[in-house]
Amino acid sequence: MSPKLTPAFEAVAKAGRRFTRAHATVPETLPSHASMMTGLYPGGHKVHENGRFLTTTHPVLAEELKKAGYNTGAVVSAFVLAKRFGLARGFDVYDDEMSDGTNERDGAATTDKAIAHVKTLSADKPAFLWTHYFDAHAPYAPPEPHLTAAGGQPYLGEVAFADSQMGRLITAFKAAAAAAGRDAAVVVTSDHGEGLGDHGEAQHGNLVYQSTMHVPLAMSGPGVSTGEEDTPVSTRRIFHTIMDWAGRPTPESLRAPEVTSEVVLGEAMKPHLQYGWQPQIMAVEGTLKAILAGPTEVYDLAKDPNEATDLKTAATLPAAIRMAMDDYPVPSLVAPAAAPSALDAEAKQKLASLGYVSATATPTVRKDAPRPADMAHLFSVIDEASGLFVQQRYAQVIPLLQKILKSDPNHLDATMRLATAHSALGQDAQALAAFKRAQTLAPESPDVKLYLALHHAKGPRWPQAVPLLEGILANSPERLPALETLALLREREGKTAESLTLFRKVFALRPPTDVEAIRFGQLAMSLGQTDQAIWGYERAREGQGAAFVGDLELGVLYLAAKRLGDARQSFDRIPSSHPEYPMVLFKRAQVSVLLNEPGKADRIAAAKRGADATTRRLIANERLFTHRE
Ligand SMILES: [Zn+2]
Repeated sequence: MSPKLTPAFEAVAKAGRRFTRAHATVPETLPSHASMMTGLYPGGHKVHENGRFLTTTHPVLAEELKKAGYNTGAVVSAFVLAKRFGLARGFDVYDDEMSDGTNERDGAATTDKAIAHVKTLSADKPAFLWTHYFDAHAPYAPPEPHLTAAGGQPYLGEVAFADSQMGRLITAFKAAAAAAGRDAAVVVTSDHGEGLGDHGEAQHGNLVYQSTMHVPLAMSGPGVSTGEEDTPVSTRRIFHTIMDWAGRPTPESLRAPEVTSEVVLGEAMKPHLQYGWQPQIMAVEGTLKAILAGPTEVYDLAKDPNEATDLKTAATLPAAIRMAMDDYPVPSLVAPAAAPSALDAEAKQKLASLGYVSATATPTVRKDAPRPADMAHLFSVIDEASGLFVQQRYAQVIPLLQKILKSDPNHLDATMRLATAHSALGQDAQALAAFKRAQTLAPESPDVKLYLALHHAKGPRWPQAVPLLEGILANSPERLPALETLALLREREGKTAESLTLFRKVFALRPPTDVEAIRFGQLAMSLGQTDQAIWGYERAREGQGAAFVGDLELGVLYLAAKRLGDARQSFDRIPSSHPEYPMVLFKRAQVSVLLNEPGKADRIAAAKRGADATTRRLIANERLFTHRE
């Protein structure tokens, strides 16, 4: 990549320090960022793939900085980093709004939002801002002049475009810092690279070669040594570096003149967890790189940067690399019961500092599990099937899934997607057959249980979904599709209070739709939970604007909550064409008396004039109307 394409990155590297051998922890967006935000390898933070949830077990950078008095903001550009996946913890502002109808946001729109945020920052507080760009992910469609500048290569054009946007942001951020009389520190990195055909991989996520694991890293700011640093490092240490800036120095900080060297680790578990293939772990020390994926490959990165020739020296690997790979905790779809650990406290402490929880779990690896690098011929069909599946084009995806299963009959994800596609097409018998097959492949898999539950929930067998969902939520309480479905089923069972509790959990992870907000308001109202009901109706009103038809209910709720001014506004918004207008007049008169408005007598008269059978009786019995002073 020519430095001319990335002047903003080059400027940071020139003003500060460039790490020529930085590595992502996972070649996938969510888990890689989870490492930067926790300082842990995925073995520690447990997010190995996109679509999972970062649990609240470990402190995250934004949380720590907030405690230290920082304003914390984030602007992200892909659905895979949405609030619901757990990275928003500790951020005062977490902007995950995508462009309309898409799963991503253009770098220019993201930069506009980030700069707008910078302008809201006040000088009396230090600030931390994380901005994420997604442009350099497929499909690549860079705007001019970046495509031409990149010699017509679309991927490089996207990188150049993202760099130009980042440059705009860094300028604004530094100007705000200068105006506040503060130092500015900048860290620029990437969550992963792109295969572009390397070892048969077009995109990223399936393999751990340098094309996707080796990433740019540069930082500038107070206390940063300048120049190039060629010690191999992991981007997880960005956590420690920023904590160091915030006043908590640690040997893992990358700011110090002497960068502590260590065996740098990385993993790609998606093929293991989703397809049932071999788990992949990489370890880099000095110029040596080993990949454990069934057999162990060894490369000399200095002589062979493209990892073309396996040195076949696995037997004589340095002890540090061998130990780090052997100890690396390989996840299973279901974590086996932890065996008692033989490690002493000091060893545990050391493992924890490396991002391990403890290497106790024995992974379940399929007996015929292939080495992912040997399955590259399937990557393109898997990617294509994945794309169609996400677009819900189920009829088209089925032949592709069958093609994958012909080549790899025990492929778990293809089996589950086949079941789900049949389910979506209303082909119950084929769906159940495929689910049965998936259960044989992974009897304890929460994913299999979840998709089977979603299938049951759609039809007359919905009661069978309930215990499955309860089981999933017992282990992962934040699993959104399980929460959403169980909330609906609880309502169907007549367990309104439980339904409401579940909906509250859902809406903590994503905002309600307008229909859901109204339904939530109605259910809460039926249970007399006034504050909750008001919350639901207010959300629906925010979303629907002039189309909102719940002002009568909302006004009644405000009245019950003694929020008389709000109640008056709600009733005054209701047009006389409302089918229950007599009730509106009655309620409005009540509010008028309670507020002691000068026109209260007119309001009572209007309620009487417009009354129907119901309100006539209510008016007659209303003591507010008879006790006039
Ligand atoms: Zn990414």
